Amino acid sequence: MIKGQVIIVGAGVLGLSCALQLSRSGYTVTVIARDLPGDSHIDYASPWAGAHFRPSPAKTPVEQLEQRLMRDTYSELERLAKEHPESGVKIVPAIEYFDSAEADSFLAKENGYIDWPDFRILKSEEYPADHESIQLGVTYRSWVLNSPVYLQWCRKQAEEQGVGFVRATVASMDEAVSIFQQEKRGNEGSDIRAVINATGRGLNDPDSFPSRGQFIIVSNQCDKTISHHWADGSSTVIIPRPLGGGTVIGGTKEPNNWSEDISDTATETILARVAGICPELIDRENPVTENTQGFDIRQVYIARRPMRRGGLRLEKENMNQGIPLIHCYGAGASGFKISWGVARQVELLVADTQLLVNNPLETS
Ligand SMILES: Cc1cc2nc3c(=O)[nH]c(=O)nc-3n(C[C@H](O)[C@H](O)[C@H](O)COP(=O)(O)OP(=O)(O)OC[C@H]3O[C@@H](n4cnc5c(N)ncnc54)[C@H](O)[C@@H]3O)c2cc1C
Repeated sequence: MIKGQVIIVGAGVLGLSCALQLSRSGYTVTVIARDLPGDSHIDYASPWAGAHFRPSPAKTPVEQLEQRLMRDTYSELERLAKEHPESGVKIVPAIEYFDSAEADSFLAKENGYIDWPDFRILKSEEYPADHESIQLGVTYRSWVLNSPVYLQWCRKQAEEQGVGFVRATVASMDEAVSIFQQEKRGNEGSDIRAVINATGRGLNDPDSFPSRGQFIIVSNQCDKTISHHWADGSSTVIIPRPLGGGTVIGGTKEPNNWSEDISDTATETILARVAGICPELIDRENPVTENTQGFDIRQVYIARRPMRRGGLRLEKENMNQGIPLIHCYGAGASGFKISWGVARQVELLVADTQLLVNNPLETS
């Protein structure tokens, strides 16, 4: 059954997940975006992501909502890993080390760790050789994905489901409607059910800001994802990218730093920390890696995570023309982790066009 037209502005992981979810459910979908899968732009966060799953706390109502979105996403990505490995998704073990004195608090249920699949506390014999600082180590089953491959796969699936893609930069959601009406195919578009704002940091939202991340892609192979949370509050991650994508290692978190310049100090710190956490990653035999601490570096890059004070904006309002507008941006460092959960919440908001909802928890 055709349910009407939905316009999605943005072709990052959130826009594409919404496009797939809504087109599967019978909506006619058009995606309008400045950047499309295959493109590379510092403000197009999705292709730069590692990307992997890591649990996060579930104490506050916002965090509990995020847990629900992560669980919906986890099941869908597990399914894709099994049925569509060509999507670039793979299930791997995850390891996390915590240096903080409060490490044990991660074992409290509300901290959101202990009830993920295969969770267990590591024995100290399982820690890396240089492990004096580690207070707690845990393991669980995670997913990783090759983000550029996954985005292309999502686009292809969406196109096969009839989703149209238009490249355009818009100044407002009204402009997106106008572009759609100029581009519209056949008789489509007479019934615009909703416009989705999946533009990463939103358009002129004063609460949005970037968090700069410096990461490195190396050819050195790793069969699990490893995170180390240092006592100073920073973290180092090792994320294998399936289907020949190497391994993403990093990184920095620098809120409101707009610089595009690579920091050599950060590069050296990342390489040294990763070599300590996972010495088996190092290739000492290869002459290519002689001056790079044993790493075969493919790319050092800077990207911007789409942060937002107050967190993800997932809410509905009406546009001037009375068309429902659903905001779905500000995913910060978690866009992949929550993507399918968000897409399902967006579908609920599209289906109930009468309801103005601020808290998606109340819609299901
Ligand atoms: C280095 C790095 C590592 C990360 N690792 C992880 C991880 O391991 N796990 C995880 O879950 N998340 C991770 N993230 C976070 C994740 O990448 C983001 O949360 C996610 O990509 C956000 O997706 P999005 O669709 O909201 O935005 P984006 O991917 O930024 O897409 C925004 C879309 O909107 C379009 N757009 C913007 N403005 C306009 C406009 N004016 N007109 C038209 N189109 C417009 C863009 O062109 C683009 O198509 C990481 C991020 C970075 C940078």
